Amino acid sequence: MQLLEQRILRDGEILPGGILKVDGFLNHQMDPELLTAIGGEFCRLYAGCGVNKILTIEASGIGPACFAGLAFGCPVLFAKKNRTRNLSGEFWTSRVWSFTHNVENIILVSKKYLGPGDRVLIVDDFLANGAALDGLISLCLEAGAEVAGAGICIEKAFQPGGERIRSRGIRVESLARIKSMSDDGGIEFC
Ligand code: 5GP
Repeated sequence: MQLLEQRILRDGEILPGGILKVDGFLNHQMDPELLTAIGGEFCRLYAGCGVNKILTIEASGIGPACFAGLAFGCPVLFAKKNRTRNLSGEFWTSRVWSFTHNVENIILVSKKYLGPGDRVLIVDDFLANGAALDGLISLCLEAGAEVAGAGICIEKAFQPGGERIRSRGIRVESLARIKSMSDDGGIEFC
């Protein structure tokens, strides 16, 4: 998606360790016009796929997920992060290792809001090693919900998550796919 690629080139900042900072338009301050276009593009890509729910993970997936929900006209559910291990049986749970924060989170959604009969589009801001997406897919499988696919704003294609998850037969659509990033600010798209 050209609009997103241009914005990354204009306002993205590369941090050491292969981290792209997009706080100016996606991860802290958000640009509703860009997010409207992102939500609309996910809706166009997954039109006719029977999506009845958007699932994401707090916190930075919530913005794009809400705009996707608006475009699809369906509810948006976000998995909550929790460190507590002894949770009651009201939740579907999964484990996610966060590479950006070096910590393992239990992620959970209420059984009230996800179950058999749901056909889910998973939305997130970034795809890197794929741990967050793996965790969200596990939640859907545990709940007996179907995964229509994933809609990712920015995929760091030089990290292995996208290829690994696609090789499981799961559809992953990324609006900007970064092939390489250099510390001097150079970004190349796929
Ligand atoms: P993964 O689990 O695929 O390794 O990473 C996905 C999650 O880590 C995303 O939900 C995102 O919040 C965070 N993340 C991974 N790489 C980056 C990055 O380069 N920049 C930012 N801002 N977040 C990232």
